[in-house]
Amino acid sequence: MKVDWLIVGAGFTGAVLAERIASQLGKKVLIVEQRDHIAGNAYDYYDEHGILVHKYGPHIFHTNAKHVWDYLGKYTEWHSYYHHVLGYVDGKPVPIPFNLNSLYTLFPPRYADKLADQLLAQYGFNVKVPILKIRESATGDDLRFLADYIYNNVFYHYTRKQWDLTPEELGPGVTARVPIYISRDDRYFQDTYQGMPKLGYTEMFRNLLNHKNIKVLLNTSFKELEGEVQYERMIFTGPIDDFFEHCHGELPYRSLHFKFIHSPEDNMQAVGTVNYPNEYAYTRTTEFKRLTGQRTFGTTYVEEYPQAYKRGENTPYYPIPKEEYRELYRRYEAEVTRLNGRVLFAGRLADYQYYNMDQAVARALSLFEKTIAV
Ligand code: FAD
Ligand code: UDP
Repeated sequence: MKVDWLIVGAGFTGAVLAERIASQLGKKVLIVEQRDHIAGNAYDYYDEHGILVHKYGPHIFHTNAKHVWDYLGKYTEWHSYYHHVLGYVDGKPVPIPFNLNSLYTLFPPRYADKLADQLLAQYGFNVKVPILKIRESATGDDLRFLADYIYNNVFYHYTRKQWDLTPEELGPGVTARVPIYISRDDRYFQDTYQGMPKLGYTEMFRNLLNHKNIKVLLNTSFKELEGEVQYERMIFTGPIDDFFEHCHGELPYRSLHFKFIHSPEDNMQAVGTVNYPNEYAYTRTTEFKRLTGQRTFGTTYVEEYPQAYKRGENTPYYPIPKEEYRELYRRYEAEVTRLNGRVLFAGRLADYQYYNMDQAVARALSLFEKTIAV
């Protein structure tokens, strides 16, 4: 077979680039995907009870990038959805990100008033402060107590479970994704655009890839294709160290095990996701109906159990944001320049960056505009 572009991986990065190259440049694209489906980690499907579930953990779309929202909007309608999370602290479900409402759920009203006054005086209203920053900057006994309390009860054990590292051992951006929010806004994200693809992610990907110049080959890893396909250029969206056969050593990733549970109850929790920072081996439970708005009898939810990644045994879901691993990544990045632009690398695993879906799309659109379409 002969194509213009070979794209490895049918996730957001691969699918968006395939669509752009096929529709804007009129070139022939072959996507090779090792799994038996498109949509990468955003893949969803109807389980045996007829409930739309996310095979690789809960995916909630949110972005401030209008061009990303508008671009995907050509391939899906949106179900309006604002994600809410409760986290169990001292046996009580409190709003996460930790905010002024969380204070009133946990502390006696007059003490909560005092803490709220001090937070407002020191940081101001509607301000987001990462936990590691609040611990450094909090002044006075009360705020210092509060900073330690949130650190110990919300972040420390959750982060150990999720990453097997402490918040300090990771890049500060990780815990800063869920900052303390000095506000009464209980939503998990404050992005301008938030929602779920009305008919699901997989259906949105079907629309993205529905172009005469795009072919998708499933159940096939890139290695198996060697010699079978001729191509001008290639885009690789899998783990960058896999591509280079780990010549500088393996990049570390974090994996997860997902346990899906069906219950005959119509709902099993009050909000989309409940976090368990301190109890259980899992970090959180997510009830899919809450995200998708699907109306059915019974409900399906998923528990997420973090695991070490072992190549060949489980899936590399998260790059691990830590400076020493970034340095190792840079050694692979240096290898890329030796390929003289014939192979491009993009995506959460190929860039070794903790991208959300909108960032993966933005990265793909920008790679197309700045490097491919020129
Ligand atoms: P992927 O989706 O990983 O796609 C890469 C594809 O390449 C995979 O399908 C893989 O099978 C294939 N591949 C790899 N190597 C090869 C090979 N050698 N040969 C053939 N195929 C190969 N983002 C959000 O915005 N909101 C969320 O709520 C959210 N929740 C998440 C929850 C979890 C548990 C996880 C793990 C991620 C979550 N994300 C979320 C992030 C989101 O999944 C990523 O941003 C997005 O999937 C990145 O797309 P990608 O195309 O770069 O990678
Ligand atoms: N986090 C935490 N407690 C929480 C929620 C998040 O400690 O209740 C930390 C944890 O380190 C986690 C990170 O913040 O990995 C980012 O959380 P997010 O919900 O963004 O993770 P993701 O959805 O990407 O798994």
